[in-house]
Amino acid sequence: MKDITCTVLVIGAGPGGYVAAIRAGQLGLDTVIVEAAKPGGTCLNIGCIPSKALIHAADEFHRIGQIAAGRRTPGIGVAAPTFDLAAHRDWRGGVVNRLTNGVAGLLKRAGVKTVEGRARFRDGKTVAVETGLGTQVVRAEHVIVATGSEAVALPSLPFGGRVVSSTEALAFDDLPRRLVVVGAGYIGLEIGTAYAKLGAEVTVVEAADRILPAYDAELTAPVAARLRALGVTVHLGAKARGMTGGEAGGEAGGEALLVETADGVELRLPADRVLVAAGRRPRTEGWGREELVLDMDGPFVAIDDRCRTSMRGVYAVGDVTGEPMLAHRAMAQGEMVAELIAGTKRAWDKVAIPAVCFTDPEIVTAGLSPDAARAGGIEIRTGLFPFQANGRAMTMEAEEGFVRVVARADDHVVLGLAAVGAGVSELSASFALALEMGCRLEDVAATIHAHPTLSEAIPEAALKALGHPLHL
Ligand code: FAD
Ligand code: FAD
Repeated sequence: MKDITCTVLVIGAGPGGYVAAIRAGQLGLDTVIVEAAKPGGTCLNIGCIPSKALIHAADEFHRIGQIAAGRRTPGIGVAAPTFDLAAHRDWRGGVVNRLTNGVAGLLKRAGVKTVEGRARFRDGKTVAVETGLGTQVVRAEHVIVATGSEAVALPSLPFGGRVVSSTEALAFDDLPRRLVVVGAGYIGLEIGTAYAKLGAEVTVVEAADRILPAYDAELTAPVAARLRALGVTVHLGAKARGMTGGEAGGEAGGEALLVETADGVELRLPADRVLVAAGRRPRTEGWGREELVLDMDGPFVAIDDRCRTSMRGVYAVGDVTGEPMLAHRAMAQGEMVAELIAGTKRAWDKVAIPAVCFTDPEIVTAGLSPDAARAGGIEIRTGLFPFQANGRAMTMEAEEGFVRVVARADDHVVLGLAAVGAGVSELSASFALALEMGCRLEDVAATIHAHPTLSEAIPEAALKALGHPLHL
């Protein structure tokens, strides 16, 4: 195969890589992208998109079931819903395909050449790609590493058989009857909640003493309450120890997960499936990082504020470079690197990277929590406005949760915004904007928010922090 020479080579077509390639192409740079699997990466194929499609279907199924049982939306009567997993998977696959085909089309339109195969560095400017037709050598002036991340396996619970990662949990052929989720992070709880709503008996095992340990307890309390209401059993301070088979599983032929509880008691949790969602790790092996001897930052490839690695001409973006491992961080880095290569002056100076947990209810955070601000020695004032006092929340039968603002005590500059409640993921836009624009409490309070919307809780939280809420 004839060697390819280009200006920019991108390894990995997930959100970090494909955005870098599209922008580089738009800027007129001769660009090649290499992908071993499918365009769209983890996010479009086995992550954000299929999980949100499953959550949406489970929410609809559950909501209709609640109406049918007379527990919701008085005045409406319906028959109990049914769920056809095969038909749901067809629809979900169609959404994923539309998006991945869209990415392929955008790359093409930007003039980017795609090479299918697995890339490995030979040196800092030369990469060998194992394709279906043989080895393709690509030489580039600039290389962007965007190899992403993968699910972490627990030594006592290797993937295989009943023990699965989120990838398999989003591709079950049958609905599990009994699902045990190891790890109460956002991935485990999002998928666990969806299957609970679809009728599975779900048990969550978490080593920490609370669910979603990356978020503060005030935000996660409504999620813990909803899990209880859905009949999900949660074992906190409990460690998964491994599978035990056969008769030990409790039921004839059943397999069970062995769990050590906080008080040292051993539990056997019978399970058709065990979803291990104990975190993700950057994909730093298999592409020649070791030979390049790139500096590392813990498990991640070390980068500076321009996503430059320790080797000249080699950049890295996305999950392979650090926390938070989220698609929108990867995309923002990818866009910045393409512009840098094209000669634009750019640097990573984001005030906040919003994060959403698509649990029930949803959690959204941007910037600092009260605890993080105090830990940083900042004197703060906070304001919390409950959705119980919001008209739109009442009309949506979704009164749990609140919006919370954290601001500096002296000049009132907003440091953090967070919310928990139905549909609050969409508030992430104004949270991030308020932080990037350097708003003060007075700016947020003085901005007119349409009525009736959940977003009215944002200025109200700011007014509360200023000591004079209108609707509390
Ligand atoms: P990836 O998307 O992992 O893409 C890397 C790509 O590189 C892959 O396609 C891989 O095949 C390819 N590759 C790797 N090595 C090579 C090689 N040597 N040669 C060629 N190709 C290679 N994030 C959110 O922001 N919101 C969410 O709601 C959300 N939900 C999630 C739900 C689940 C179940 C999971 C697993 C993840 C979720 N994430 C979510 C995280 C999100 O998917 C990642 O942050 C995002 O995909 C990272 O993008 P990336 O470009 O760094 O890497
Ligand atoms: P995690 O969220 O890591 O959850 C895994 C859980 O499994 C943990 O609670 C752990 O205690 C538990 N566990 C591990 N082993 C066992 C065992 N043997 N038995 C029982 N339980 C076990 N994500 C966001 O969405 N937004 C953010 O802003 C964000 N910021 C982050 C900042 C930092 C500093 C860190 C470290 C992580 C952050 N994350 C954030 C999460 C991160 O980006 C990953 O995407 C996430 O960890 C992957 O999700 P998960 O649900 O698989 O795992």
